[in-house]
Amino acid sequence: MNSASLVSEEPITCMGYCGPQLYTVIKDGQLVLSEVPGAYAGIVTKGIFGRLECKSGMYAKRENRVFFATLEDAVKMGFRPCNKCKPLDEEHFERVKSLVREPTLNDFYHRPMRRIDPPTLSESLRW
Ligand SMILES: [Zn+2]
Repeated sequence: MNSASLVSEEPITCMGYCGPQLYTVIKDGQLVLSEVPGAYAGIVTKGIFGRLECKSGMYAKRENRVFFATLEDAVKMGFRPCNKCKPLDEEHFERVKSLVREPTLNDFYHRPMRRIDPPTLSESLRW
């Protein structure tokens, strides 16, 4: 994509924040290593995603954090939006509606929390 592209030769043993400027990011349903955290952050133990600067996310343990390249990546993985930082508005919801089983944005925000384990890393993926 750009100079942030990175290929991992080794199995990824970290989740979320992986040391100086290295993050695990879900992109197109797969886990990749990236030098940028992506558009949204999620907490795997709750199945919730939010804005990168969301306090709820930053208080979560590092090993429980994961990042998403796009809104679609978070929704496809089954994560629902955070009620604190409200990362989704009606316009966003229209965009991802076909990927969500709830009929309204409000219902989507109130989907029960559940653990969602991210995919494991495939070999030689790059972003
Ligand atoms: Zn939030």
